[in-house]
Amino acid sequence: DLLGQQPTGSPSDPTDRPAASIFDKVERFFEPGGDYQKVNEADLYPYFRAIEVSEGSRAVMNGREVIMAGSNNYLGLTNDPRVREAAKAAVDKYGTGCTGSRFLNGTLDLHLELEERLARFMRKEACVLFSTGYMTNQGLLQSLAGRGDVIFSDKDNHACILAGQQVSAAETVRYRHNDVEHLRTFLERISNERPDAGKLIATDGVFSMSGTIARVPELVGLAQEFGAALFLDDAHAVGVIGDGGRGSASVFGLEDEVALTTGTFSKSFSSLGGFAVGDETVIEYVRHTASTHMFSASMPPSAVATVLACLDILETEPERLERLAEISDTMRDGFRSLGFDVWASQTPIIPVVIGEMYRCFAFWKDLLEAGVFANAVVPPAVPQGQSLMRTSYMATHTDEELDRVLSAFETVGLQHGIIAPGGKPGPA
Ligand code: PMP
Repeated sequence: DLLGQQPTGSPSDPTDRPAASIFDKVERFFEPGGDYQKVNEADLYPYFRAIEVSEGSRAVMNGREVIMAGSNNYLGLTNDPRVREAAKAAVDKYGTGCTGSRFLNGTLDLHLELEERLARFMRKEACVLFSTGYMTNQGLLQSLAGRGDVIFSDKDNHACILAGQQVSAAETVRYRHNDVEHLRTFLERISNERPDAGKLIATDGVFSMSGTIARVPELVGLAQEFGAALFLDDAHAVGVIGDGGRGSASVFGLEDEVALTTGTFSKSFSSLGGFAVGDETVIEYVRHTASTHMFSASMPPSAVATVLACLDILETEPERLERLAEISDTMRDGFRSLGFDVWASQTPIIPVVIGEMYRCFAFWKDLLEAGVFANAVVPPAVPQGQSLMRTSYMATHTDEELDRVLSAFETVGLQHGIIAPGGKPGPA
């Protein structure tokens, strides 16, 4: 190789093993008897499936019309004519892309307008946009949690918080999911051992698989007691829950006590991108230090205009949030009365527990054939033996569509022994 070293094991290794390749892991991924091969052979592979037609609550997959019960399009605005028009007008005015980062040539007046609107909407001093929600969380943690600091992170936090922890120079401690007593023990220990460490408590505001809301009041209490900043990832909360859709802190009237809130545009806002809100100086610092903001191209004009149009609708049509909450209650009750376990869901994310991974994949396939699309979620995203169908709802689902979802789940649930007749859990 370039350094003149032997590609085989170390020179002192007499066994002369074949050279390791960077692609060995690829071979292992596809090896016979592995999960990838077995799931495909059984024709149960549920991922990367193409949607041929997308009309909000309806979609066409494999030539078959299905009810979409697996999208994060919570307000049902992806196909709204007003939103489409706004996106098209932005293309006409600004073109298709910004071809540069916000820092350099990628700031349009539209980006500034959206930042102002969102800061006001979230009742915070300032807002900064990123090109995805993932980049928002990763960039924020990299920027704000530096050497000598400690991030206290819920074990069920989204992968992009994990990514932020990995690129941050701070140390991370992970507390058991929603376990504020466990968090307290870490806060006490770090405060005693390292009184100079800056502390950031990071949690999803709504957990993306269980649909539960974080214990914001207790977290605020701990943050205040230990002088930590609280950071909420409200990807599944802004435009979904809280006063006017202002997210998880607003459910408890605690927006002022939360230092940083992030959100995404890939769910309620029918677009792509992300944002963070907080104090003006903190946000201005993030603008100058978050790599994912500074060194990546900005949101394209159509994506920004889409969000602005959705924000207008969110502010003028609060009945969408009411309908969404009503649908969530109806569906949770519906699943429970059929005998399904939906964990402790409190939002339009309703997990339906199936069990073992292969059973979940088979369930996914039969459900699709029964005319309903939902997402199969398997370990490591959920604990072993707790594979689930993640269902999620939008304000535009009709009662008739929701009935069809429940009835498809009932049929397939009985068929697979997940439930038994009479609304009981099944033998499986
Ligand atoms: N946070 C959470 C909790 C999420 O579920 C997601 C997306 N699934 C993200 C952040 C990332 O958002 P985006 O799709 O905008 O990258």
